[in-house]
Amino acid sequence: MRILIVEDEERIARDLAEAVTAAGYVAEIVTDGEEAWFKGGTEPYSAIILDLGLPGLDGLTILKRWRQEAVPVPVLVLTARGAWSERVDGIDAGADDYLAKPFRIEEVMARLRALLRRAAGRGEPQITIGPVTLDPRTREVTVSGQPAALTPLEFRLLNYLFHHRGRAVSQMELSEALYSHDHERESNAIEALVGRVRRKLKSDVIETRRGFGYIVTPPQPK
Ligand code: CA
Repeated sequence: MRILIVEDEERIARDLAEAVTAAGYVAEIVTDGEEAWFKGGTEPYSAIILDLGLPGLDGLTILKRWRQEAVPVPVLVLTARGAWSERVDGIDAGADDYLAKPFRIEEVMARLRALLRRAAGRGEPQITIGPVTLDPRTREVTVSGQPAALTPLEFRLLNYLFHHRGRAVSQMELSEALYSHDHERESNAIEALVGRVRRKLKSDVIETRRGFGYIVTPPQPK
């Protein structure tokens, strides 16, 4: 199991990584908000420990974006001491648990184990639309049972559309969900991305609604 530790204070990050490793998990440290957002949304971690005060992009914004993108990973938020509003905001943004600094490492590990237990019982279901099946946990996509090799960004696009199935999603909304910087938001970037995904899926599961955006339509109940 891989645990992502997002913490810009070197000593705390190192202590957490040591404890996580000692508990038999694989620890990965990220100190920058932008990188954390990208990795957490792209790679299949079993859980994420997320500090809120980060350079680049703050933890709350990262968490909101993950949840908006339907990234299902359990998140344990680290808040500053006494900042009760951070706790409320964190839970509103989709944190599964939180812990105020300074903390005892034993307590972090206890909370982490509890998170992993709950997540194991929850089991994010696969989503199948037409011949395409998407597994939010393993981040795998198959078409008629054959694996489709999507890039991380292509996967995120498809994951977003599948989780918002049944409604048209505009290019603007996709652009905001998938890119962190304005300058990356080229007007035709989403169009090109959708084109690539369509080719890889070799199916018309992503439809265009002219003037509204893109939609995937769930199968009608029989
Ligand atoms: Ca910090």
